[in-house]
Amino acid sequence: MQQSSDQQQSSDELAYARTATGEFKCTSSRCKTQPVFKRKCDLTKHQNNHRRPRECPKANEGCPYEGGAEQKDLNRHLWSHHPVYARENNIPEEKTQCDYPGCDYKGRKDNVRRHKENVRHRREQP
Ligand SMILES: [Zn+2]
Ligand SMILES: [Zn+2]
Ligand SMILES: [Zn+2]
Repeated sequence: MQQSSDQQQSSDELAYARTATGEFKCTSSRCKTQPVFKRKCDLTKHQNNHRRPRECPKANEGCPYEGGAEQKDLNRHLWSHHPVYARENNIPEEKTQCDYPGCDYKGRKDNVRRHKENVRHRREQP
């Protein structure tokens, strides 16, 4: 076993150990309580709770957002719930490029959809 300081230790949040009595103990370093479960499915359910890689920076101000799996989930949350914060901190807005060849329209996913409906990109050359 080598001791690497890999930041992407995705397995750590799911780390567990079997106790002498065959129970499942949560050993994740993200876990403060590290409880013991009789059944593995209960352990899995519990471990889902501390899978919060992206916490809302407003959590300490009472935001109930539990955190998304990915940065873009958090970004989307910030733009919809804390737009002032998002603007002040240059949080990247999720943008999608219009997939019509040659079109450089970029925007939020639903805007792109609307754009495509409004512009009605023609398949033929004009
Ligand atoms: Zn745990
Ligand atoms: Zn929030
Ligand atoms: Zn377009």
